[in-house]
Amino acid sequence: MAVDVGHYYGEPGVISASGRAEFEYNLELASQLKGLLNEAGLKVRMIGERGDYAILHYRTRDAAGADLFVSIHHDSVRLSQLPHAHRFSGFSLFVSRKNPQADKSLACASAIGAQLRAAGFTPSRYHADPVLGENRPFADEINGVHYYDNLTVARSAAMPAVLVEAGVIVNPAEEARLRDPRLRERIARAIASGVLACLP
Ligand SMILES: [Zn+2]
Repeated sequence: MAVDVGHYYGEPGVISASGRAEFEYNLELASQLKGLLNEAGLKVRMIGERGDYAILHYRTRDAAGADLFVSIHHDSVRLSQLPHAHRFSGFSLFVSRKNPQADKSLACASAIGAQLRAAGFTPSRYHADPVLGENRPFADEINGVHYYDNLTVARSAAMPAVLVEAGVIVNPAEEARLRDPRLRERIARAIASGVLACLP
């Protein structure tokens, strides 16, 4: 399978409440996830860990042959909501109905969400909110999975693909939690368990 580190050094994604780039969070969590999947006997191809992937569809191209593509990200909120960022927290998962294996993508996303919930994490409702968020329809509301059909890495992948937003790093309290290595390990373990549950 392939684990993708969201963003790259040139455009490192969200800038957190404390000023740290999302790419750094993504790299730490993705590396830990890779280690846990390796321990479980899975072969993992890391994509973008050197921070040099500027072109999105190269990520899925270079993952060719993998049975699942999981892209690791950390979340923000829209500009108008940044002053209220403390109100937003939790994980979100995204799949595309344009992925050639959309059903399997959703099954894997639901499995990851179920394991995150079992580990005590709560899905964010931000992206589905029609007013404060992006009005993205839930694909599996209980497990925090949304449809995001034009999401490049989910759509361009030949294999099932899931994008994980592990938490909201523009929320200062949530960022502080996400910096805790023990909490990061719990997230990584939950994602790994979901992956193992959905792969044959
Ligand atoms: Zn991101």
